[in-house]
Amino acid sequence: MLRINDVSKRFVGRDKITTAIEGVTLDVAAGEFITLVGPSGCGKSTILNIISGLMPATEGETIVDGKILRGVTRDVGYVTQQPNLMPWRNLIDNVSFPLEIDGVSRPERYRRARELIRLVGLEGFEGAYPNELSGGMRQRANIVRTMIYEPKVILMDEPFGPLDAQTRVVLQDLLLNLWTRTGVTIVFITHDLQEAIGLGDRVVLLSARPGRVARIEQVPLPRPRD
Ligand code: ADP
Ligand code: ADP
Repeated sequence: MLRINDVSKRFVGRDKITTAIEGVTLDVAAGEFITLVGPSGCGKSTILNIISGLMPATEGETIVDGKILRGVTRDVGYVTQQPNLMPWRNLIDNVSFPLEIDGVSRPERYRRARELIRLVGLEGFEGAYPNELSGGMRQRANIVRTMIYEPKVILMDEPFGPLDAQTRVVLQDLLLNLWTRTGVTIVFITHDLQEAIGLGDRVVLLSARPGRVARIEQVPLPRPRD
């Protein structure tokens, strides 16, 4: 589903060049939930920015569903750490906003948004505004807003980082449930090894040294999928 092939990224500053990642190759199968874990500064966000199509690589290529990535695409959704919901729109209008841009009729976009809202346990809150929701609820809304285009791959950049420990556990469970029900491919980055191991089908360890990507093949843990 996703392949990054010998990808490097260098940032050229005024008097120095920073190599963020060097020669990274990674394959992610359709429906896989992969976690990338490593210390701050090891290049996790750079990898995700490249896969999202937002940032061009210095070298190498990214292939999504058989096509070379040339920029942002609806096949790839990006969930940021901060939910960035529009404060003047209620939950359902935030979640369905991407479809509104597309000119999808209100009943149709609400129908699709409701399904997703239900999947993350936010039914009953459709009319609530972001400031009426908890941080965890806002992040749930952010995740399903990304899913409304039905992307093939979802990228997540420490989405539960700012949440308290209890809320994190709730959202991790919800995310696994969402993944199981939709079959979407997930690339999730975190600096928390425990979170990486708890969520991933496969955990990829990134060392702080450029190009050093150590892969851990997890003992397969069959999860029920319907
Ligand atoms: P992580 O997400 O693992 O914390 P990043 O991908 O953000 O790591 O950063 C990897 C390296 O690239 C770091 O050394 C960082 O300082 C550098 N870097 C990231 N973005 C830029 C930028 N825009 N300009 C210069 N250096 C950058
Ligand atoms: P989360 O796990 O999403 O952070 P919380 O632990 O903050 O959620 O909230 C747990 C439950 O409390 C929610 O599922 C909801 O039923 C209720 N709740 C939270 N915030 C509100 C609110 N602003 N209005 C009404 N009920 C709320």
